[in-house]
Amino acid sequence: MGIEGRLLDELPSISNEQITWQYTRVSINYPFNNGIYFEILDTLYLPEETLQGEEIEDEAFSIVGLNNSKGISAKTRYNPHGFIRVENTETNFFEGVKNVKIYARNWFKIATTFTNESGEFYINKRFVSAKVTVSFQNSHVNIKTIPGVRLWRVAYCSRIFLNSYNKIQGADLTNISLNLGINSDLSSRGSRDWSAATINNAIEDMQNLCTSENIPCAFNHLNVYAINWNDMGAAPMFRKMANSSLLDDFINITFGFVSTPLLVALEQYLPDVLIGYGDNNNSRTLAINQTVFHEFGHVLHYNQLQSNSWWMNLISYETISHPGDYGDLNSNNSGYAAIAESWSFFLEEYFAYRKFSPTDSRFLDNLNLNGFTFNWIPEGLPLDLLDTPDMWGGTDTENPIISDNVLGISVSQYFSNLTSNMTEMNQIRDALMINFPTQSTEIQSLYNSYGF
Ligand SMILES: [Zn+2]
Repeated sequence: MGIEGRLLDELPSISNEQITWQYTRVSINYPFNNGIYFEILDTLYLPEETLQGEEIEDEAFSIVGLNNSKGISAKTRYNPHGFIRVENTETNFFEGVKNVKIYARNWFKIATTFTNESGEFYINKRFVSAKVTVSFQNSHVNIKTIPGVRLWRVAYCSRIFLNSYNKIQGADLTNISLNLGINSDLSSRGSRDWSAATINNAIEDMQNLCTSENIPCAFNHLNVYAINWNDMGAAPMFRKMANSSLLDDFINITFGFVSTPLLVALEQYLPDVLIGYGDNNNSRTLAINQTVFHEFGHVLHYNQLQSNSWWMNLISYETISHPGDYGDLNSNNSGYAAIAESWSFFLEEYFAYRKFSPTDSRFLDNLNLNGFTFNWIPEGLPLDLLDTPDMWGGTDTENPIISDNVLGISVSQYFSNLTSNMTEMNQIRDALMINFPTQSTEIQSLYNSYGF
C-alpha cells in the first residue's frame, strides 16, 4: 500500500522472512487498499500548526510525562532545512540530489517535502526535534533496493535516516547536511545509498534531456530496483503491464537462479526497471547514467507503443528465445530487438554525450564505430539520420562502410516512428522515405549499408 511515514519499525522479535505489523498514523478517512488487514489502535487529535496549537502540544506532552524538549525551551521550534548531496565521479563534486522526498517526524507529527535542483529542502512545519529521513521516491519513480534478508521490505522505497535514526535537536534542524560519497565496498550500505541517489539524479536529468530533444517524457510512478548485480539493466515493465507471467524466467536470467522468497517479494512489488550498480570502476556515475539512459529509453518506447503485446513479444524474445545474446537477424521476431535495442543503445551514448561530454566525440565514436556491436542491431542509425560526417566538429570518426548522406532527421522525428505497427527495421526505413521524400535514395542506401 505504500505506508506513508512509518511510526515504528517492525517488532524485532520476529523471524526474518515473517511479514509483521507496521505502525503508522493515517488521516481519519484513509482509504486502505482491498486486502490490507488493519486494526485501529487509537484515535489521535493533532493540533493545528499555530502558536496556540504548539502550546497544546507542549501541554499534552508534559501531562503524560514526556519531555518533548530535551532541555531546550519547549516553545523553540524550527523548520527543518538542509541539503542532500551525492558525489559525482565525472566532476568530482558533490551535487544536489534532486526531487527526493524528505520526511520529518516527531511522535505523531509528520511533515514531508521534496528537494529542489540543488538538493535543498525546507519543511513547512516547525519541530522541537525530529527524525529526518530521505526517501527515494517522487511522482516519477519509486527506487527500491533489494534488501539482503527481509525481502518483504521491497514494499518500501530506499531510504536513509539522517543522524543515524536519532532525532535532530533544536537549531541543528535548520542546518542539516548529508553528503553521499562514493564507497568502493559494493556490498555496503553506503554504496547502496550512493547508487540510489545517483540513479535518481540520472532519471531527473534524463527528463530535461528529453524535453530539449522534443521527446515526450512521462515517467509515472515506475517501480525501479537498484541492485548490486554487475552493470546489468532491464526494463521489463511488469508493473505497468500488470503482467508477471515471465517474472520467474526473467529472474532466472537476471540473477542466474530463481529463489522463492525473491520471487514472492517481487511478485508483490513488480519491477518496471532494474539498474545494476555492482560494477566497481572509476566512472561509476557515468556508468549508472548510461544504464539509466538505456533502460529509460526503453520506458519512453514502451510509453509511446501503448501496446503490452508488442512489449511482451520483446521481453519473451530476449528472455525466453534468446536469453543474454539477442539472437541474430534471422531469428523469429528479431525485429522487436533490433528496433528496441538500437534505440536504447543510441540514446545511452547520445545522452551521455549531451550530459557529460558535449565537446568531445568519444560517445559518438562509440555509435559510429561500434555500430555493429550486435551486428544487426544498428545503434548508429539514429545518429546517421541526423548528422553529416563532420557535424560534431570534425573530431568524430565515421565508419567507412556506412553510407551516411542523410541529414537533419531529428532524434524526435526518428523516435516518433517507433510505434506499435513497426516490427521490422525496414518498416521504419519505408516510413522515413515517405516522410522525407527528397532524401529517400540516401535513406535507402544508409539502411542498406547497415544490412537492411
Ligand atoms: Zn536494452
